[in-house]
Amino acid sequence: MMQYSIVGFPRIGIHRELKFATEKYFRNEIDVETLFNIVSELKSAQWKTQSNAGASFIPSNDFSLYDGMLDTAFMLNAIPERYQTLDEDDTATYFAMARGYQGQHGDVKAFTMKKWFNTDYHYMVPELDDDMQIKLRSNAFLDGFCQARSLGIQTKPVVIGPFTFLKLAHYTGNKAAVDFADAVLLAYADILKQCAYNGVKWLQIDEPYLVMDLTGEDIALFCDLYRRLLTEKRTVKALLQTYFGDVRDCYQQICELPFDGIGLDFVEGKQTAQLLASHGFPADKTLFAGLVNGKNIWKCNYAIVLEQLKQLRKTCKKIVLSTSCSLLHVPYTVKNESQLDPQITHHFSFAHEKLEEMRELCRLDELSDYQQDSAYRLNQELFQSKGLRENPEVREKVSALTDADFDREMPRRQRQALQRDLLNLPQLPTTTIGSFPQTKEVKQNRAKFRRGEISEAEYRANAKAFIRDCIKLQEEIGLDVLVHGEFERNDMVEFFGENLSGYVFTSNAWVQSYGTRGLKPPIVFGDIKREKSITTDYIQYANSLTDKEVKGMLTGPVTILNWSFPREDISIKEMMYQIALAIRDEVLELEQAGIRIIQIDEAALREKLPLRRADWHSDYLDFAIKAFRLCHAKVKPETQIHTHMCYSEFEDIIPEIDAMDADVITFEASRSKLTILDVLQQCGFETEVGPGVYDIHSPRVPSVEEIETVIQLMLTKIPQENLWVNPDCGLKTRGEKETVASLTNLVKAAKNIREKL
Ligand code: GLN
Ligand code: ZN
Repeated sequence: MMQYSIVGFPRIGIHRELKFATEKYFRNEIDVETLFNIVSELKSAQWKTQSNAGASFIPSNDFSLYDGMLDTAFMLNAIPERYQTLDEDDTATYFAMARGYQGQHGDVKAFTMKKWFNTDYHYMVPELDDDMQIKLRSNAFLDGFCQARSLGIQTKPVVIGPFTFLKLAHYTGNKAAVDFADAVLLAYADILKQCAYNGVKWLQIDEPYLVMDLTGEDIALFCDLYRRLLTEKRTVKALLQTYFGDVRDCYQQICELPFDGIGLDFVEGKQTAQLLASHGFPADKTLFAGLVNGKNIWKCNYAIVLEQLKQLRKTCKKIVLSTSCSLLHVPYTVKNESQLDPQITHHFSFAHEKLEEMRELCRLDELSDYQQDSAYRLNQELFQSKGLRENPEVREKVSALTDADFDREMPRRQRQALQRDLLNLPQLPTTTIGSFPQTKEVKQNRAKFRRGEISEAEYRANAKAFIRDCIKLQEEIGLDVLVHGEFERNDMVEFFGENLSGYVFTSNAWVQSYGTRGLKPPIVFGDIKREKSITTDYIQYANSLTDKEVKGMLTGPVTILNWSFPREDISIKEMMYQIALAIRDEVLELEQAGIRIIQIDEAALREKLPLRRADWHSDYLDFAIKAFRLCHAKVKPETQIHTHMCYSEFEDIIPEIDAMDADVITFEASRSKLTILDVLQQCGFETEVGPGVYDIHSPRVPSVEEIETVIQLMLTKIPQENLWVNPDCGLKTRGEKETVASLTNLVKAAKNIREKL
């Protein structure tokens, strides 16, 4: 019978035991030993689950106390000087790298964090200094293997491969990846030696970087590393594991290298099947066929996988069924969602359920007439019943869209002039990004309402009281364009999801975002429709309290979708358009209610940009940008549309951002040293801009002079009639005191500069 393999398993614990234990350890409420005991119980339970479900290739060392890249840096002795001089024990040093350290031995910053490929997980970026002695520091990577073996479970240890490690590391000195190749190679050779010594049969080496656009140099580095690493007389089998895409740039080279197994992603790898069909697959190797989606939360369509297996057998002799990537990115089990309608949860498959599906697939694969099997039929019924998820009215609306639905009636320059006349704002208008500090009272109001302790009327009355105070505060500070403060929102996506039909919310479906931080993304289950007004009441109320302009505040369709679990039975484009139509209703209603400035946040615009440049437009930007335009194309030319983006890393998609056709964009710039402004200038950016003049991610209060300097600098690059003055993001995570002080300084600075203009 075909065997199956799991690339990696979630690690936070079904009830987030890891998070709670680690946080207790941080607060000194438990000692290291207790932490490790909890961790080791957690790991044992997971191996048993996988083993009981019949998995043949069970990962170990896929676990991490904080992050796998950080573990790899630690394992390879890539520990920067600043952490070593703390002279702390291993665990404390490790956590200092993860979170920074402020204590009796010093004050050091943590590693920086980055998005892990196209997931919502974040890894710690290793730092490689010129004088670092890279070597295998310990064989802790085998702890799990030995622990599992004592339970009678044979595992395959997992390590992040040398190529991916070198490609993702940050180089602080003059040396580059190739300069570390020899040392890294020796360390990995030691890993193989230790594996052999301890009786490891298979070692899984993760090289997700292979699915990126590779240069000739990259490929040469990869080949060189493995040609030297995988020597002839090896007892440990090496599984090269890739995921998140296909390996089109180096498929043939991979096949020629002496790996024993190759793990390929058939779910996100658009060209994977084609690569095998055109080039074949080496007869002496085992294909770990990533046919079951490891990232999404939906049941797998057995018909598709069984057919793919049949096709693959034409080129491959030895096949192991595999997940397309680690299950790190899905929650543990659907069993914890008993509050949801079984008609809904029936469609879900989280980590535990995926194990059962893989087992079932291996069984069905043996049968010549699996179509007759009852489990198969049950599975297929799921994919035929559409009733619950389809809303014909929404479908029709989307399919009736024409080009005109995406274009505003007046060209941007013209309407910007019109808006300037009408709104009559001062030069360098000051504003904020939307949210104001979420005080204890604000949070309590929401919590009490959620727990049913106060009525909806009470809840809304309290929210309005916060709005009243917020408007008054902004008037006192002297801001030009005011906001209502977003006190009704827990989260910019969840709040909208809760108000749209088609969305489903789980109770326990947590996934790791980074370290101890989890996310519980809402799920798009059916067609999206706005059933009722979402924000207008609050924003209209805010507007009634002041003579100044109040900016309406919405989250855009791209961000709403990017921070949700999308469905698989319709396209991303279709989902984005559905959400855009819902937001459009809200936009037009706000306009009707007399709101003349409306901001549609797209904080996560870049988030799902495909890993390969060739796919950027066709697979994403073309419709993501259009989805945004769809939200606002039908407003009057006089209505000013703002958008906001958080990540300054958008220098390579400036024309696309301009093509969103907003009138104003505010964004985070204070940290990236404003280099983005040069690019805007070069591209002839038309959208008015509000690059953040200070960083809201720290409680520090910027001085008036400091802000003036920043504005002056901005004025050397941006025409003054196009420049807005604002912080770089929402203020909800900040305290009240520092917020008032910072905004007061911001307004003063803007006024001082205005006088000089
Ligand atoms: N309007 C939101 C706020 O001010 C934007 C949040 C964000 O960009 N992440 O909080
Ligand atoms: Zn932001």
